[in-house]
Amino acid sequence: MNCAVHAEREATGYCRNCGKALCGECTRAVREVLYCEDCLAKVMGHAAGAGATAAAPGSPASGHPSTGSPGIAFVLGFCPGLGAIYNGQYNKALIHILVFATLVAGVSIAHGGLAPVFGLSIAGFIFYMAFDSLRTAQNLRAGAHEQ
Ligand SMILES: [Zn+2]
Ligand SMILES: [Zn+2]
Repeated sequence: MNCAVHAEREATGYCRNCGKALCGECTRAVREVLYCEDCLAKVMGHAAGAGATAAAPGSPASGHPSTGSPGIAFVLGFCPGLGAIYNGQYNKALIHILVFATLVAGVSIAHGGLAPVFGLSIAGFIFYMAFDSLRTAQNLRAGAHEQ
């Protein structure tokens, strides 16, 4: 078998993509996988094409660092700040912690009549954080960037 480009040369490998026989000069090794120059150009063009061709929107392999499981985000959301941190929203986590600390302080300061109000607010806020984390994680997974 000779090279598909250089008929007088012995082929040393085959293109992984199109199966063309290639000599040492024609093979293009990418991570130990051989391609012909045409196929490598296609691969590179696809990678540099900014998703113009076949980039699947919202594919799980989009490489977004903070796409986690909505279920885990929901569970962590019950702990002030953790759900937001899990979603990569550090400012929101800080706000959650501050609001939660304020409500807890409110319970201990407001003896008597107002304490149950703060207690209910804490319970409500915990559920708000959990569902907010769940919703954010779902949005992140769907490719929407909510900040
Ligand atoms: Zn090829
Ligand atoms: Zn060749």
